[in-house]
Amino acid sequence: MKLLRTKQEVHHHLEISRINNTTIGFVPTMGALHDGHMDLVKKAKENSGVVIVSIFVNPTQFNNKKDFENYPKTLNKDLELLDKSGVDFVFVPSNQEIYPSVPSLIIDFGSIDKVLEGAFRPGHFNGVGIVVSKLLNIVKPHKTFFGQKDLQQVAIIKRLVEDLYFDTEIVIIPTVREADGLAMSSRNLRLDSEQRKIAPTIYKALTFAKDELLAGNNWFDTREKVKSMYAKEPEVRLEYFELISSVSFEILDSLKGHSNIAICTAAYLGEIRLIDNISIFD
Ligand code: AMP
Repeated sequence: MKLLRTKQEVHHHLEISRINNTTIGFVPTMGALHDGHMDLVKKAKENSGVVIVSIFVNPTQFNNKKDFENYPKTLNKDLELLDKSGVDFVFVPSNQEIYPSVPSLIIDFGSIDKVLEGAFRPGHFNGVGIVVSKLLNIVKPHKTFFGQKDLQQVAIIKRLVEDLYFDTEIVIIPTVREADGLAMSSRNLRLDSEQRKIAPTIYKALTFAKDELLAGNNWFDTREKVKSMYAKEPEVRLEYFELISSVSFEILDSLKGHSNIAICTAAYLGEIRLIDNISIFD
């Protein structure tokens, strides 16, 4: 595996693959890699001739300075994992390499970024849009792999690629979970043992609500029941729990009239904020 630090190095090393018509698969990450990331890597390997992973903790997508500063960093372990799994290139740029100047472009994703993560983390999706655009322009992958864990991000990126004609296929991978249902996340590393014990409440609430809806129960009653589940676990603070169209991110109040529906949620354990989602019809 080759470690690349600059845009020029990426261009140079991927040029040969491009000339040889080798499919370039790209997995963008912020590091602190876990089995969820490694599933994206596995899928990328199965579907591409050459795989490049980026590790860059993107400052512009953090609306909370403390969250950015405390974001877990495990670079040596990450490099070992990627090497073992047969990744060809890992791109670890400096902040200066990605942001030689403050971007003046601001991306507005319309109705998709006005709710949920967009509403609770102002500027987050602008930062995601900017960094993903830069990375796609540097790597120019044939296929780019993202996790369903960040469902609203998936909707944002699909719009970005469609609206700006990025020449890459977006491949989405299902959420990888711990045995107790907790969605794998780099931020889980920050949970203390007590918080880790109650963190599966988030997924329990999602599966409970999905079952209630599929049994024909009303959404608002279901959400009230979820709120009372959370009330019994005062260490977890629910931020939002919404039924949405996973294409438009329109907030829904029933399953009627839509086929791509999910429940999205965010909750705090202490100061650690976790997100998760569940699709209703699969
Ligand atoms: P991050 O490093 O958190 O920015 O995530 C990098 C990529 O990994 C994103 O496409 C995420 O959606 C994806 N990802 C994160 N956690 C998981 C998970 N538990 N299962 C599948 N994909 C994930």
